[in-house]
Amino acid sequence: MTIRDLTILGCSSQQPTRKRNQGAYLLRWNEEGFLFDPGEGTQRQFIFANIAPTCVTRILISHFHGDHCLGLGSMLMRLNLDKVSHPIHCYYPASGKSYFDRLRYGTIYHETIRVIEHPVSSNGVVDQDENFTIEAQFLEHGVDNIGWRVTEKDCCKFDKEKLKARGIEGSLVKLLEKEGKITLADQTIHLDEVSWMRKGDTFAIAIDTLPCPALLKVAQGAKLFLCESTYLEEHKELAKQHRHLTAAQAAQAAKKAGASKLILTHFSARYLDLQPFLDEARPIFPNTHVADDLKKFAFER
Ligand SMILES: [Zn+2]
Ligand SMILES: [Zn+2]
Repeated sequence: MTIRDLTILGCSSQQPTRKRNQGAYLLRWNEEGFLFDPGEGTQRQFIFANIAPTCVTRILISHFHGDHCLGLGSMLMRLNLDKVSHPIHCYYPASGKSYFDRLRYGTIYHETIRVIEHPVSSNGVVDQDENFTIEAQFLEHGVDNIGWRVTEKDCCKFDKEKLKARGIEGSLVKLLEKEGKITLADQTIHLDEVSWMRKGDTFAIAIDTLPCPALLKVAQGAKLFLCESTYLEEHKELAKQHRHLTAAQAAQAAKKAGASKLILTHFSARYLDLQPFLDEARPIFPNTHVADDLKKFAFER
């Protein structure tokens, strides 16, 4: 079964509230579980969300402020306890290597899982396989802080009617995809005559930043864009001072970047009601939603 969804494990900023845990976001996409910024208490949030932590295959840390990484050690310990057999890839800003090491080895435990570290020091592609490409963009937050893009590879889709009309079936279809052409009864058929390329979807996440050109690069054409909006416009001076976004600024970024859907998160504890975030963002970018702890968003194809 293919799963494509985003689970909000927490959506507060630095200070949790009674209703909001420190941030953490799980994107389940086919066989992969991308865990972004596991804040304090993430392990327990998995239990409330009724999701087995063993689905996590990659952990991506945007930066080393505590609300984005304090749950790293306990998540790695948990995956260790669960004896996961797949490797856990960890991506983080290279300048924070000492923080990563301290979080990873902060307590006594016998490490049996295989952790593959990807310290990132420049913009661009940081990893790819046959299914996904992961890209990094350094944002403006006063410390090294990365916005991520996860894009699935374009894939070849066949037109069944056209295949049938040309008598191509079974293993011949695979051969045509591999070779790019096939000759049947003295007639050469090229791949593009019977197929089309489906563009891969992009999930983008930008947590903790000022408005900046890199923010637009992160969100460019994203199908789903998860973005911080720590403040409302009424506190925009505070947002600037602490290098964060307002809901309106996040919505403007989504609009300029041509994203399809925006989810706001990383809310300051000063706001108990999140409706004003929607009221502020939707006139600019109508397809805006607000995160809430344990809320799931479908990531439709
Ligand atoms: Zn933060
Ligand atoms: Zn921060």
